[in-house]
Amino acid sequence: MAYDTNNIFARIVRGEIPCKKVCESAHTLAFEDINPQAPVHVLVIPKGPYLNHEAFAANASDAEIADFHRTILEAARKTGVAEGEGGNGYRLITNSGPDAHQEVPHYHVHVVGGAPVGRMLSRRREGA
Ligand code: AMP
Repeated sequence: MAYDTNNIFARIVRGEIPCKKVCESAHTLAFEDINPQAPVHVLVIPKGPYLNHEAFAANASDAEIADFHRTILEAARKTGVAEGEGGNGYRLITNSGPDAHQEVPHYHVHVVGGAPVGRMLSRRREGA
């Protein structure tokens, strides 16, 4: 699948669509998910045109990858879920590709926390 430069997160990076920004760095943007699944639900995205985790890990520079992970930490600290800041931890989720139900075709990591979020996966059901 080719990267679509008009996907909604690319438009957020370009400032064409507003977002509730949590923090930003040279290569990365973090903002609140529009449909939060936990008290804290932040999306962290690279500013570059990467479709999914596979594309990012294969093609992003070391600087972009390091910056991305440091911005995840900054977002966790700013939202109060990082244990080093007195929080109680967080889960990182990335959906990469159809089997993972990726909806927005621009790589992103969900940072969720602020309350217990349960076990990682429920047992697979047919058709789920
Ligand atoms: P995924 O299924 O991993 O692709 O998740 C896409 C996420 O993007 C969902 O949690 C949506 O609620 C979120 N989302 C979609 N549009 C926006 C938007 N304009 N601003 C913030 N979050 C959004």
